[in-house]
Amino acid sequence: MSTVVNTNLITDLQKFGGADINACFSCGTCTATCVLADNDATFPRRFIRLAQVGLTDDLVASKELWTCYQCGLCTTNCPTQADPAEFMATSRRYAIAHYDKTRIARILYTRPVVGSAIVVGAGLFFALFFAAVRGEQSTTSLAFFDFIPYPVIHTAGIVLMVMVALFSLLGVGTLARDMARHDGVTWRSLLGTRSARARTGRALWSALGLESLGQKRYREDCHDDVEVEPLYRRRWLIHALTIWGFLGLLLATTLDYAFDIVGIKATGTPVPIWYPVRLLGTVAGLALMYGVTWFMVNRARKEGVSFEHSKPSDWLFLVLLWVTGFTGFVIEAALYLEPVPAWGYWIFLLHVAVAMELVLFLPFTKFAHAMYRPVALFFYGLARDDTTHAG
Ligand code: SF4
Ligand code: SF4
Repeated sequence: MSTVVNTNLITDLQKFGGADINACFSCGTCTATCVLADNDATFPRRFIRLAQVGLTDDLVASKELWTCYQCGLCTTNCPTQADPAEFMATSRRYAIAHYDKTRIARILYTRPVVGSAIVVGAGLFFALFFAAVRGEQSTTSLAFFDFIPYPVIHTAGIVLMVMVALFSLLGVGTLARDMARHDGVTWRSLLGTRSARARTGRALWSALGLESLGQKRYREDCHDDVEVEPLYRRRWLIHALTIWGFLGLLLATTLDYAFDIVGIKATGTPVPIWYPVRLLGTVAGLALMYGVTWFMVNRARKEGVSFEHSKPSDWLFLVLLWVTGFTGFVIEAALYLEPVPAWGYWIFLLHVAVAMELVLFLPFTKFAHAMYRPVALFFYGLARDDTTHAG
């Protein structure tokens, strides 16, 4: 296979972030500093080298890009201000845009004015659409959810999710294919024998259970903020609560839907706060709001190296999540007021429109990390498993 050299790679990368990688002279200080280097004597500077020589395909298909949690230690210790931490974040943004064939991610990352117009346009579209199909405002919470007919939300949600799933699968599938080719992973090496299946199982558990859900390495290894931050402000906890909160809300919504289908409880039926699904949703919503609020505060304050450079797309993801969470709580409060106040209905409309927009932009914003990182960590787990068992 021929190697394609992209002579514009550095210029193109700079549109996605602020790192000055021309300043890097491969001294290795970042490697010595990084707690996640994992005995890899070239991590993370190898990726800077790939960018310097224009190897786009190798850079975007590097699974190790996604093992970095952007703690910033390497940047703090870099003698030339090459900012390797920001370079890693920039490369991840670049990889997401590279694998997004619609080019929406690229626009959101590199053309803030056009990107903002797309975001505002999509938001207005959803708001006007739901305003056009809205029903009457009832004075009782029993019929509150009839304000925007449930079948309309349901159908719009399904259409949107199918579209988003197709875009996401295309991007993540191509990334997985490239990583598999790069590492010589085949279906046979994954599933062909009993030991292969065991190895695949371990890599899946490591990527999905230990890392994505348990935040193991972030929690145990990236502890540079342990001395300076109380537990409630540590990066891993803020990150974990955001993920756990989001997953909890997803589970609560799915259960609510399932209960409706099997006839346990119709969607929208008023229930007390301690009703299990409502309680799960409330606790998950609080966790999400906590994590997202700290992310926003840290980004606004440029708190530490990790939050120094924020792209509009990073903000878009946080703002959509925050507004969705906040309006969800306002709706919950409105439901306990009898009669439901008029503003409750409009907040409900806003909530649905913003939640739809959040889903729509899932493959193109920082949210895409939630799909790309586990795939990369899976391939990383396979390679690590080989090293462990070879030793
Ligand atoms: S990024 Fe900085 S610390 Fe790392 S190799 Fe380059 S100059 Fe050295
Ligand atoms: S930001 Fe932290 S985890 Fe990422 S390469 Fe630098 S030192 Fe390693």
